[in-house]
Amino acid sequence: MSAPSSTSALPFLPFTRPTIDEETITGVCEVLRSGWITSGPQVKALEAKLSAYFGGRPVRAFNSGTCTMEIALRIAGIGEGDEVITTPLTWVATSNVVLEVGAKPVFVDIDPVTRLIDLDKLEAAITPRTKAIIPVDLTGLPVDRDRLHEIAARHKLRVIEDAAQSFGSNWGGRLIGSFGDFVSFSFHANKNVTTVEGGCLVLNDEREARLAEQYRLQGVVRSGVDGMDVELVGGKYNLTDVAARIGLGQIARVDEFTQRRRELARLYFTEFGRLGAAELGLRLPVADFVHSNWHMYQVILPEELLTVKRADIMTALTAAGIGTGVHYPAIHLFSLYRRLGWQAGQFPEAEYAGRNILTLPLFPTMADSDVARVAGALVSLLKTHRKQA
Ligand SMILES: *Cc1c(COP(=O)(O)O)cnc(C)c1O
Repeated sequence: MSAPSSTSALPFLPFTRPTIDEETITGVCEVLRSGWITSGPQVKALEAKLSAYFGGRPVRAFNSGTCTMEIALRIAGIGEGDEVITTPLTWVATSNVVLEVGAKPVFVDIDPVTRLIDLDKLEAAITPRTKAIIPVDLTGLPVDRDRLHEIAARHKLRVIEDAAQSFGSNWGGRLIGSFGDFVSFSFHANKNVTTVEGGCLVLNDEREARLAEQYRLQGVVRSGVDGMDVELVGGKYNLTDVAARIGLGQIARVDEFTQRRRELARLYFTEFGRLGAAELGLRLPVADFVHSNWHMYQVILPEELLTVKRADIMTALTAAGIGTGVHYPAIHLFSLYRRLGWQAGQFPEAEYAGRNILTLPLFPTMADSDVARVAGALVSLLKTHRKQA
């Protein structure tokens, strides 16, 4: 039964939407009928595909991106008394995992243009207790890997790349994940490649991969026909075969997804340019069509020029049938982090971005005309709510 569709209004445009094709749905049904639905052959096949994609490096799949970073920290032996440097403008998982292993996150403010951790400020934050850096490729725009790994090598620090958003991005033509130290990806429903929930960790060698397997499932090591031992405290982080089958359908299309996202991002720049958005104070992202997978298209609203707040703009856009998101509020201002000693004013660039950043719709099945509609609606709101000089 199908209801007649409305002709009066355009359908609601979400800020993102997964692309799951019929081949994948059929494949998932086959897994469900196969008799083996949790971790098994599909997870193995996904790990093999990912490893090939990342140039042969060892890869293990998990049920979230968050746990892959926690596990990387544990494999690196990071815990009580250690410091880990990261950005305050990221999903809170990035620093929560540092707290989870008993270490201390150390925030370094962002570069206001790239919105990524400011590498010019990073070295000043290194102390004798610093053990690792977690760079975050916000929106899929990669942190400068040459400078990052040079700094890490010089100070003998581990790097756990939070590449949750940068699957398919590259640095100097090399795919993110195909080089470096630990590289963590998320397959959350909103990410460029999804397993509904899930993630993977790229590791350096088989010893680390074996440890990752132990941390993934209760520390269990199996041997022979009936042998089993437990050497460390592991969690319950294994991916299911149902989820892995979705991931296999996604990886087959990742290049196509990235290309379409880049096209749409380009269109946003064209539209905002045509409409004079920069002259109205709207801060656009870096116009990168080489490295970024365009996981998101984010603008920063000019709060000093507007009579309304971001929430009002979001509400007005929702009323116009346009979904938006906030990625992300600055982490150090959350209650938990304030309780641990952080306060407003410490990272002014991240705080400004956290208050004013806005994620606009961008996903592979979006139409070109959607971009024009979003840009037009936002620019008209900026004009309506502009402070009088
Ligand atoms: C999505 C995301 C994560 C966490 O991934 P989950 O799969 O949701 O656990 C971590 N960091 C960043 C930057 C993310 O975008």
